[in-house]
Amino acid sequence: MSFAPSSPDDRFVLVTEVGTRDGFQSETRLVPTEVKADLINRLIEAGVRSIEATSFVSPRAVPQMADAAEVMALIERKSGVRLTTLVPNARGAERAAAAKVDMMACFVSASETHCQANLNKPIDAALADFAEFAPIAHKYGIGLRGAVATAFGCPFEGDVKMGNVLKIVEAYMRHGARHITLGDTTGMATPPVVTRTVEAIRARFPEAVIALHFHNTRGIGLANVMNGLALGVREYESSFAGLGGCPFAPGATGNICTEDLVYLLHVCGCETGIDLDALAVVARDVQQLMERDLPGQYIKAGPRLKLTSIEGVRRAVG
Ligand code: ZN
Repeated sequence: MSFAPSSPDDRFVLVTEVGTRDGFQSETRLVPTEVKADLINRLIEAGVRSIEATSFVSPRAVPQMADAAEVMALIERKSGVRLTTLVPNARGAERAAAAKVDMMACFVSASETHCQANLNKPIDAALADFAEFAPIAHKYGIGLRGAVATAFGCPFEGDVKMGNVLKIVEAYMRHGARHITLGDTTGMATPPVVTRTVEAIRARFPEAVIALHFHNTRGIGLANVMNGLALGVREYESSFAGLGGCPFAPGATGNICTEDLVYLLHVCGCETGIDLDALAVVARDVQQLMERDLPGQYIKAGPRLKLTSIEGVRRAVG
């Protein structure tokens, strides 16, 4: 499959960095507040325009995100940079509004079993929570994003019902969330499943702005991005150095890697506004911080045209 943007307007792709939320949340160790804020500030400096910074969930349920307000307060805000946080309910929405977030994101799983396991409530109850907090976002003039988790498959139920996906998107749209993220929470997306899902949503809700959140659990994360680009999707979510995990596939990688994604987009002629070298420095620091090898490939190999001297290279035969 090949892809090339057809016009300058078509060239810009919005990359949302989710490392400090999705990535750090799946780590057992707690990352200091100042370190999180420093990473976010350096991402902004590197040209990242959209960041899912943290989450206003219950600190008891998710201790990694207990410092959400403090992280937000330490970020050097810049116009044109969108800071999104997760919000599960009205209480979280008030905290997010006080922290002056640009966008609140709600998460509901398309799989009833996953929704119960993750949010401890059925889909309808999770949507009722959203209906309750959406007016709070509107009141403060804050953007709303509706995320559909396990949109491309569930480890408990297998393929999810398209009717569930559409029901969730319908509720989001009805309450003013036109930005829809389809989350490959457990890495089950494939190009055909993504095409089917994006087309079904567009057929019913042509005004929806779709973003794709892929995981690289089975090694086809960037192939899914290529397919998304061919479908005309211009927003992707990813994590620095590929940080993140998959709770239902131990040892598997999590989110697609931001530097690898940006590298792919740039070589395909897309624009992201991101300085890839500066981004790679941040990603290497994240790898150092985690004290282990992370899945990102670009930070290991470096730029494509970083030439190697022929002298001293061990000859490989064949
Ligand atoms: Zn993820």
